[in-house]
Amino acid sequence: MVKFDRSLNAYYCEICKLHYKDKELAEKCQEWCSTHDSCNLSIAKNSIEALSRRTGRTS
Ligand SMILES: [Zn+2]
Repeated sequence: MVKFDRSLNAYYCEICKLHYKDKELAEKCQEWCSTHDSCNLSIAKNSIEALSRRTGRTS
C-alpha cells in the first residue's frame, strides 16, 4: 500500500519516495518500483517533485 504524506497532502511511493496527488499513480509507481527496481519515467514525470521542478521557473 502507498503511504499518505500529510505535510504535502499527497500519496507517495515507499520505494522511490516520489509524491503523487493521484493515489492511482502512486500505486502504479510503487508497483513498478517493487518489480523493476528502477524508475518508470512515464510515471515519475507525474510526481509532485517532477512537476514542481518544471513549474519552478517564471517563463
Ligand atoms: Zn516509485
